[in-house]
Amino acid sequence: MSLKNIFCQERAIGALQRAMNAGRLAHAYIFAGPAGVGKRTTAQAWAKMLLCRERRQEKATDLSFNDSCGRCESCRVFEGGGHPDYHLIEKELRPFTMDDKGKEAKQDLPIAVVREFLIDKVAHRPVMSECTVYVLREAERLNASSQNALLKVLEEPPKHCFIILLCSRADRLLPTTQSRCQIVRFGPVDEPHIVAALTEKGVDKTQAQYWARLSEGSMGEALGWATLAPKGSSCYEIKRQLVDSLAKHRLEDSLELAAWMGDAASRISGAWSDIEPQTSKTDLGRRAAKGLLRMVVAVYSDVMKLHAGQGDQIVNADQTGPIEALARRIDAEQSAEKIAKVYENIRWVEASVNEKLIFEELLLNLAGSRIISA
Ligand SMILES: [Zn+2]
Repeated sequence: MSLKNIFCQERAIGALQRAMNAGRLAHAYIFAGPAGVGKRTTAQAWAKMLLCRERRQEKATDLSFNDSCGRCESCRVFEGGGHPDYHLIEKELRPFTMDDKGKEAKQDLPIAVVREFLIDKVAHRPVMSECTVYVLREAERLNASSQNALLKVLEEPPKHCFIILLCSRADRLLPTTQSRCQIVRFGPVDEPHIVAALTEKGVDKTQAQYWARLSEGSMGEALGWATLAPKGSSCYEIKRQLVDSLAKHRLEDSLELAAWMGDAASRISGAWSDIEPQTSKTDLGRRAAKGLLRMVVAVYSDVMKLHAGQGDQIVNADQTGPIEALARRIDAEQSAEKIAKVYENIRWVEASVNEKLIFEELLLNLAGSRIISA
């Protein structure tokens, strides 16, 4: 992977290149932007370029573009995945720390990981290249004590060291953390680019279109949904069934549909678990539940778009029948209320409320009933 192969993040990469050309490259960066738009890929390609022993500089119209050579020893070792001067820090390292040895990865990024894999190591001299690069994933999961521990390193990293924090929610970082780093913003990827990338991987065009719209510019997410293989049926078949069911949803079917959603969520998280065994079951379960809830949001947003005469912009363009049927039953205002309700349930998922209860409560509510408390 080289920097010139990364598409749709020209603005972010351009900002880094200009800083480098001007000799004002900062030693601590925050790459901020939605999940799945290429922050990690860019950080890896940027690190590979910084570590490269025969860096290339191509003159573009208004900018010299620095990139890795792809051939030197450093580049070859980097591609092999074991570069001694490149360090990826993630919450899944927790079982490998001295302090929390053998303990499971948690939701947050524990201080043991940050201290042992970053703070205690930054002073180490590079082994193969002229610098060292530390990339910290999911910085939005850094708790306050981890961030406080990091401040000194972010303020004055050793001259040979670059630190990049990847963050989908920069607003969750303490102002003191933000002020010590240069922030590089990553925007969503254009829909046609996502569709093209998915179809190139053999995804059917109609399905690619749906996942691109649902994922709102997150290439990683669209690709994940389109290629995941849950037991029994694909994610696309699950979404089709969900849309059909919501279109004819009645109060009396609520519990059955909630059970079906619970089963779909566990099949989806099971499939993720097969390809991401290092990610915790809790994380995957939440991701699956939130994914299904976002499909529900898309259904009611589509109904609103139909009422607003924006039928060409609907996410479920492949299932206009059920969306139109629903639009005949509920008006724009009711759709807006239902969307707000689904978002409330998405927050519950994040707050660890039992998933079964969430689906049941939601579907009873969507069918028009008041909450039944046990
Ligand atoms: Zn190289």
